[in-house]
Amino acid sequence: MKKISKLRGMQDIEPLQAKKYDFIEMEFNSISKSYGYDEVRFPILENTELFERSVGDESDIVNKEMFTFESKSGKSMTMRPEGTAGSMRMAIENGLLDSGQQRISYKGPMFRYERPQKGRSRQFQQLSLEAYGFDDYSIDLEILEICKEFFTKLSLGEKIFLEINSIGTQKDQKIYSTKLKDYFSNFKKDLDEDSLKRLEKNPLRILDSKNEKLFNLIEGAPKIYDSISTKSKENYSKIKDFLEKLQIKYIENPFLVRGLDYYNDLVFEWKSNELGSQDTVCGGGRYDSLSKIIGGRETSAIGFSIGLDRLSLLVEDSIIPKQKSLMIISLEDSYFLDALKLATSLRNKLNNFSVQFLGKEKNLKSLLKKANKKNTDFMVIIGKKEIDSNSYTLKNLPKNLELQVNGFEALINNLNENIQ
Ligand code: ATP
Ligand code: MG
Repeated sequence: MKKISKLRGMQDIEPLQAKKYDFIEMEFNSISKSYGYDEVRFPILENTELFERSVGDESDIVNKEMFTFESKSGKSMTMRPEGTAGSMRMAIENGLLDSGQQRISYKGPMFRYERPQKGRSRQFQQLSLEAYGFDDYSIDLEILEICKEFFTKLSLGEKIFLEINSIGTQKDQKIYSTKLKDYFSNFKKDLDEDSLKRLEKNPLRILDSKNEKLFNLIEGAPKIYDSISTKSKENYSKIKDFLEKLQIKYIENPFLVRGLDYYNDLVFEWKSNELGSQDTVCGGGRYDSLSKIIGGRETSAIGFSIGLDRLSLLVEDSIIPKQKSLMIISLEDSYFLDALKLATSLRNKLNNFSVQFLGKEKNLKSLLKKANKKNTDFMVIIGKKEIDSNSYTLKNLPKNLELQVNGFEALINNLNENIQ
């Protein structure tokens, strides 16, 4: 039969890679919890309107990247391309916003119909935090500090750097949009089809273009800083001041606007020079208007999303704690049950070990071959000799050692000592 392959742009995560994902997710959970962020889960499928209203219809996402289809009853549904809108919808619908400030975390797959390439797939994973109901910049600082602490835990050091900008209020953005429209209108012949459309509907989105031919033109555009209100300027300068005091290094990027419409004031991205052109690992910012856009009460909000797939390309395998592996073999059928029980007892007593019982296989030579192939650390053998003397034969495979151990306690002690 012909093999069935995965769809274009989809990814399979094999065991080795999944171990790294698991490690990163555990670190993420641990840091989120330590700052008081509670995990939530919400659907992958949402009303298409949720994203059209919030992300913005001139954004790349809504314009061309959504996996949208009709249900049997003709309702338009979309596989979530991002989580901020769904998380906010959930908070509104479940009354979370009515019960005061919320710190929320979530993770999972997102879907965007994009051109697949390294670091860009159609299903990808995000790790995200959102904070609702916090007005002042202390939460902006907290969010950036969490990112920094998380990346430090993953030993990323200088591999990753922070870019920030302030895009002012939504009103400021309107004023700025007019300036941008005037500027880009002088260069209509240089603009691509997307940008020409955006010029009419949402000129700010031109700054988010991925078309390298436009980069020079964008560099010459008016800067948003000159259009933002005094209050936003003051807020931004306080944030920068505290970032310095907290020793969180940053680069100001006056053209950083983010690809979604709902942001205001602080926006940021964590990038890396080691990822080629898909260099943004994390994007986030403040979005105080989103709640009202999707029918909730006025609520200030800030958050970020980390692309787990891109992040995992930066994380070294060597920092992932290794689980030791042990195989149990019974050399005769009559000891099958003894070996099976021993495996269960060892799993209960040992931490960070995987214990595999090899069942009815008895050919020691082929078992050793198998163990080597799987990089097994230990083998425990039970045969007549062992049962008669209440002992175990313990093989330390990497060290090529074999010893006779008397009794279960001694076996446990031996294994624990050997992993130091
Ligand atoms: P990009 O500019 O690379 O398209 P974006 O601005 O569309 O990114 P966000 O919506 O801010 O991305 O999503 C946050 C993070 O999720 C990104 O910084 C990136 O790490 C990751 N991400 C986004 N789209 C993809 C994708 N198609 N494949 C893999 N990771 C992605
Ligand atoms: Mg994108």
